Amino acid sequence: MEQLKNTISPTMNNTNKGEESFGETWVAGRYRSLVMQNRSINLGANSYKLTKELSYEEIQKAEETLIRIIQSEWSSDKREKYTQTIQFYEENKILKVRSRLILGQDPENFVGPTVLADNPIVRRLIAYAHKTLHHAGVQTTLSHLRERFWIPRGRRVVKEVLQKCVTCRRYTSKPVVPVIPVPLSVDRINRVAAFEVTVADLANPIYLKGGEKAWIVIFMCAVYRAIHLELVTSLSTEAFMQAMRRFFAIKGRSSIMYMDNGTNFLGTSRALSNLNWQEIIDECAIQKIKWHFNIPAAPWYGGW
Ligand SMILES: [Zn+2]
Repeated sequence: MEQLKNTISPTMNNTNKGEESFGETWVAGRYRSLVMQNRSINLGANSYKLTKELSYEEIQKAEETLIRIIQSEWSSDKREKYTQTIQFYEENKILKVRSRLILGQDPENFVGPTVLADNPIVRRLIAYAHKTLHHAGVQTTLSHLRERFWIPRGRRVVKEVLQKCVTCRRYTSKPVVPVIPVPLSVDRINRVAAFEVTVADLANPIYLKGGEKAWIVIFMCAVYRAIHLELVTSLSTEAFMQAMRRFFAIKGRSSIMYMDNGTNFLGTSRALSNLNWQEIIDECAIQKIKWHFNIPAAPWYGGW
C-alpha cells in the first residue's frame, strides 16, 4: 500500500500540470499504472510483458486501491468533525457512509456511498464527471457523483473545479464592452446625402490575370455605410487622384473625406504614405472638400 502510494504521489501532488486535459485518459492512466504495479508485485518483473488489456477485476482492484490511498490522506481530525452527524463504517477497508436509505431498494453504492475527501485525484474525477455530463452545472455534476461517492463539502469542491473548466468559461464569459460608450461624431449621424462624408481606405493588394499587382481603394459612406470600390494599378498620387475623380463622377462629390489610421498610415494603408498628400489636399480644397486624418490607433476617435 505504502509502495503504491509513493509511486502515485508525484502525480497526485502535481495539480496544475495538465489540469485542463482532465478526463478519462488520466483516470485510466492511473488505473493502468496501479494494475501494472499489482501485476509486478504478484508476478514479478516479467508481468509487464503480459497482455496489455486490463481485466474488469484488475480495474476494480485498482479503483479500490486508489480510493484507499485517497482516504488515507483524509486526516482523522477532519473526520471527527462529521462523526456527530454522519455514521461511518468500513467495508473491505474502504470508508463508507451509512445513509438513512438502507431499507430502500436503491443500489448498494447509493445507500452506502464511498467517502472521497478533497484531493487532486477527486478533483480530476469531478472534472471527468462534469465533462461526460456535457459540461453540466454544479447541481447535476454533484448529484451524479453522489450516486457513488460522498464528498465532504462537495458543493464547494465541485464549484471550484467547474470554475476552472476552460470550455465552460469560454461560453459563460461576458463580452468586453467599453465602460462608457463614446458618442458618435457629428459627421457620422448628420442627415446628409450618401457619400457626402466618406472614409477612404486601402484593401490588401490583389494580382490581376497577367500577374500585375493592383489595389482596391475603398470609399465608404460614413453615415449609410455604403461602399464604392475603385481599382488602381499603381500607388502613385496621380493614380489615387484618378480613382477619387472616378468615384466623385459616379457617386457625387463628397464634402468631407476621412482617412483611417491617420497620417502614420498603419497596416495596408502604409502604402498610401508615399502619396503626395499635400497635392491631393490642395486639389480637394479647390473643390471644397475637407480632409481629416484620424489619430492612429484610435479609430473610435472618428467613430468608426
Ligand atoms: Zn465545463
